[in-house]
Formats: sequence, structure tokens, C-alpha cells
Amino acid sequence: MKDVYTLEDLRHWDAATAGEEPPIRLSVFGDPVAHSLSPQMHNAALAACGIPARYCRLHIRPEELGEALRLLPKAGFLGTNITIPHKAATLGLLDAVDDHARKIGVVNTVVVEGERLLGFNTDGPGLLRAIRAEFGVDLRDLRVMVLGAGGGAGRAIAAQCALENCERLVLVNRTFEKAQRLAAELEPYFKGPRVFGPARRLEAVPWEEPVLAAQLANTDLVINATSCGMKRTDPSVLPSSLLRASLMVYDTIYTAQLTPLLIDAQSAGARVANGASMLLYQGVLSFEIWFNRPAPVEVMRAAMERPS
Ligand code: NAP
Repeated sequence: MKDVYTLEDLRHWDAATAGEEPPIRLSVFGDPVAHSLSPQMHNAALAACGIPARYCRLHIRPEELGEALRLLPKAGFLGTNITIPHKAATLGLLDAVDDHARKIGVVNTVVVEGERLLGFNTDGPGLLRAIRAEFGVDLRDLRVMVLGAGGGAGRAIAAQCALENCERLVLVNRTFEKAQRLAAELEPYFKGPRVFGPARRLEAVPWEEPVLAAQLANTDLVINATSCGMKRTDPSVLPSSLLRASLMVYDTIYTAQLTPLLIDAQSAGARVANGASMLLYQGVLSFEIWFNRPAPVEVMRAAMERPS
């Protein structure tokens, strides 16, 4: 099996994967996608459950997304995961989308049913389980700041916080208008009073240091859902002077054990975790959607932790 397949391979899937046994029937679409740990996690689960199928990476560019999705039934796929930057665009290209994914506006799991493509989202529920596993707390009891609230993962996470009725939600995004639009969509979830004090339960704020400093005084959990930190040369998304020991800091990035943000947060005494646990649980939930059976969680965790 190749590390990464392309649209050209998908157009001639039988020829491109001739001799592959078991056949490749699941994938992750992304751009970039070479970093994805999903194949090792899902291939271990498929083997452990005796399912005769394998999972691969497909490098699909934005302009190729529609064609790539439509090729899946003919190529014999059971489904695919969707990652950066396709999660919002995929929603409009499917035949049906479940309520949760439609509400949050992003899809990360596609099921092929005959000729039809059905969309789901497991990022939010995966994050919920990850936060409980990493910090022993539930989103509903927390004041949360989401950095990158305008991206696919950020929207899913923010919507999950809203659905959990978390104490407080602060939306931050480099392109401010996207955070403002999301706040307007989520407003109905934050009608009831829950926190004491003057802080509003839901706010979109501009990415400006003094504004973030003030907001962080009323925050328990910071979640980085931007892609800043994925490249080795990326700086930390927050200045280290803003980080305090009382914070929990979760970085959805899992390509590094500690991203620049997590290194700074740990130095400040904060509790930190990277996105591996979210990846694990969103993968577990995708597997359960595809196969309608419990996923082998420990097998998947061990596979992710093995060097690729
Ligand atoms: P996306 O839809 O392309 O969104 C990217 C987000 O990052 C946008 O909010 C964008 O802001 C922001 N951004 C990019 N560069 C930035 C910078 N230099 N400074 C500040 N903000 C910046 O991507 P996505 O699918 O949501 O993925 C985002 C991240 O989540 C990735 O790192 C991905 O690995 C991670 N993720 C992890 C898991 C997991 O299971 N652990 C699951 C999903 C995603 P603008 O709106 O201004 O462009």
C-alpha cells in the first residue's frame, strides 16, 4: 500500500491497487494528508475485528473534492474521513447529512450507502471524550476559549460546547467575522444564566493580546483548533505571557507531542494535552458509524502510539 494516493489513483482504483489484499475500502481525504495517523489506527482496528478491508490516505486538493467523493461508490469504498481543509465544503456535496453535522456545518465522516453519500461529524463528540479522559472534567462545567473557531474543527468543538451547555464560551479566530457568525448561530444555546459575575456566557472576540488577556481571566480551558503549530517552524498561537498555571490547555494538533503552545503552557504550570486523544475518540466514533459495532479502543490507542 502506498503512503499517499491521489485523485488520479482513485479514477483508476482497481488498477492503482491491484494485488492489495485485503482491499482498500476506507480513507482519509486531506490537503496536506501525509501526516495523518488515521491509517495506522484504523488498520489495526480492522485487522483486530477480522474485517477484510484497509484504510489509506488520499491527497485531495480543494478543486478535486467533488469528483473524489463521487468516485467512492464505484471504487468500492465503504466510507472516508475528511480532514483539513475539506470539512465544510464536503457538507454541500453529499446526498444526506445527519442532524448533528448539519447543525455544526462540518462533516468529518462519510458513509457510502449504494450510490449515496451520507455525512456525519465525530470531532465534537470525540473532543468531549478526550477532555474527560485527559483532565477528568466535563465540558459542561467549564469556561472554554476556542482559538480557530472559524475552521472546521473549531466549529465542531464550539458547537459541542454549546450542545453541552458549557459555562462560558469565547470564540476567537484570525478572520474575526467567522467567529462572529458562529457566535450568532450558537446564541440560542446560551440564553440561560449559569455563571455568576458580569462575564457574558457567549462572546466572539478579536485576536488582540489585551482582549485575550482579559478573557483568559474568565477561562478554565483553552483549545487550539487552528492549524498553527502543525509545522515545525510555526510559533505558539498565544504569547507565553498570557498563560497561567490555573489553565487547562488542549491543542488539537497531534503531530507533535508538545506544540509550541503546549511547551509554553507547561512552563507556566498549566495542565496540557495534545490532540492524540481527540483523534483516537473521533476515530473510534467513525469506526462505530461505519460498522455499527463497538470499536476496539485499546487496539486503536496502541496503534497510534506505535512509531509509524
Ligand atoms: P481548517 O478548516 O482549514 O481551519 C483552520 C483554522 O486555523 C482556521 O480557523 C484558520 O483561521 C486558523 N489558522 C490557520 N493558520 C493560522 C495562524 N497562523 N494563526 C491563527 N489562526 C490560523 O482546518 P481544520 O480541519 O479545522 O483543522 C484545524 C486544526 O485542527 C488542524 O491542526 C488539525 O490537525 C486539527 N484537528 C485535529 C483533530 C484531532 O482529532 N486531533 C481533528 C480535527 C482537526 P482563518 O479562519 O482566519 O483562516
